[in-house]
Amino acid sequence: MRQRLSSEPDRYRGRRRVPTPPRSRYAAVVTTAFVGAGIVALGANALPDAKSVNPSVLDELRQASVASQDAADRNGTADRATRDERSDAASEQDPWLLPLHGYDFKSPYGVRWGKLHTGIDLVAPEGTPYKAIHSGTVTKAGWFGGYGYAVIVKHSDGSEAIYGHSSAVTVKEGQEVKAGDQLGLVGNTGHSYGSHLHLEVHVNGQPLDPVPWLQERGVDIKLETEALYGDVAAS
Ligand SMILES: [Zn+2]
Repeated sequence: MRQRLSSEPDRYRGRRRVPTPPRSRYAAVVTTAFVGAGIVALGANALPDAKSVNPSVLDELRQASVASQDAADRNGTADRATRDERSDAASEQDPWLLPLHGYDFKSPYGVRWGKLHTGIDLVAPEGTPYKAIHSGTVTKAGWFGGYGYAVIVKHSDGSEAIYGHSSAVTVKEGQEVKAGDQLGLVGNTGHSYGSHLHLEVHVNGQPLDPVPWLQERGVDIKLETEALYGDVAAS
């Protein structure tokens, strides 16, 4: 950057005989150079042959540099504000979490035994407590056909999580839950081949693969990791 800085007066000197240098263009070039170098205050002495430069041009450059720095500051502030809002929303107020720990990821979403397996199976001992992956309202808590004893939580973004095959449910329909609140106990009820939690996610009423969907929210079911901080979730 130093070389670029010292080249500016030379560039100007070469054009000195032109009565009115194209001010906006010159300002843009110098502004880019100085802002790029991280120099906020552009003093007249910063230019080796400043005295040969028309003072009004220097003033204009100074103003342009300050204006650009202001704009850069404003942009920086806006960026920080966006980041803060995101991390607040993602982690401190409304995180996404794993439904339990120490499970064995058994059966992925997809066609299984000739039909679509609409969720994922997390094998864990009967009676292991499982928790809400996100805040929301309990819209189902009880027997739910092939799901056995199940809990459905509707999240504020409209998505739903279904927790199936419980040995018991420990919430009531209509109850508000936060991420990490216990919903029930892992079991082997309904159409189930052994003690496990069947976790299913519906978006717009349709099931989707919860693994990549939760990954986007900072939760990696396969790696059994959850992001407690928004900046981790966003990366
Ligand atoms: Zn299942």
